[in-house]
Amino acid sequence: SKAKLFDEKTDTRTSFKDVAGLEGAKEEVEEIVDFLRNPDKYTSLGGKIPKGALLVGPPGTGKTLLAKAVAGEAKVPFFSLSGSDFVEMFVGVGASRVRDLFKQAKDKSPAIIFIDEIDAIGRARGKNNFTGSNDERENTLNQLLTEMDGFGTNTNVIVLAATNRADVLDKALMRAGRFDRQIYVDLPDIRERKEIFEVHLRPIKTAETLDLDFLARQTPGFSGADIANVCNEAALIAARKEKKAVTKQDFLDAVDRIVGGLEKKNKIIT
Ligand code: ATP
Repeated sequence: SKAKLFDEKTDTRTSFKDVAGLEGAKEEVEEIVDFLRNPDKYTSLGGKIPKGALLVGPPGTGKTLLAKAVAGEAKVPFFSLSGSDFVEMFVGVGASRVRDLFKQAKDKSPAIIFIDEIDAIGRARGKNNFTGSNDERENTLNQLLTEMDGFGTNTNVIVLAATNRADVLDKALMRAGRFDRQIYVDLPDIRERKEIFEVHLRPIKTAETLDLDFLARQTPGFSGADIANVCNEAALIAARKEKKAVTKQDFLDAVDRIVGGLEKKNKIIT
């Protein structure tokens, strides 16, 4: 549905303040914000503004968040679709969805297009490791390449795509004038985990001043999404116990619960 593809009102509100850590990635996307805001500044000397960038990193590390923050900071509409949406599509639908998406974005330009899980459509061609029809996937990929090549120099639509498997992507996607920039979004280190806790504790009513260094130490290997989950879970645990505010112990219980969930997930995979 159109509503799912484009939600201008809610999506332009994300800002860099919502993204903790990821200093290097933020610096790189700040340049994209400036391309969207002041395109003439960059094209005045004959340069071409990049059409796309690939956000590469493990699940839950903030790739979608960062893409939304780019749109929010540049105050431009955010159009998105997920590669996995195409998995069960009928022939021809994928390509026409891509065409439609680019048309909408061009009509509203400057704009950001975000393609999550691009590996679902962008796997190297000729490798049949796609759940749906391989022809359909190739048609969708070809349409994406056609659209990006067809951008005029003054279109001012930038396509951000996310993947945790850059290695399986068709090299054609990375060619100059397509996704020729790669931005790495890694799991947070201890300092970044502390900052992510700070962001996600904002709406939480806590009973005591929490030692965020301690929480960061308790959560090695956690992604930003896991930490967001911990904060939410802690609030639910405390509320279930009819508490008036969330305590350190609730956070520790939440960490245990998330660790348990992660262990289960890993067992299913291996
Ligand atoms: P996936 O690869 O699974 O799609 P992703 O990298 O796109 O994951 P997001 O969807 O952006 O991850 O992250 C999920 C949620 O986790 C965010 O909405 C946010 O609440 C939280 N989160 C992740 N990373 C960060 C971060 N660096 N700072 C603050 N919150 C974060």
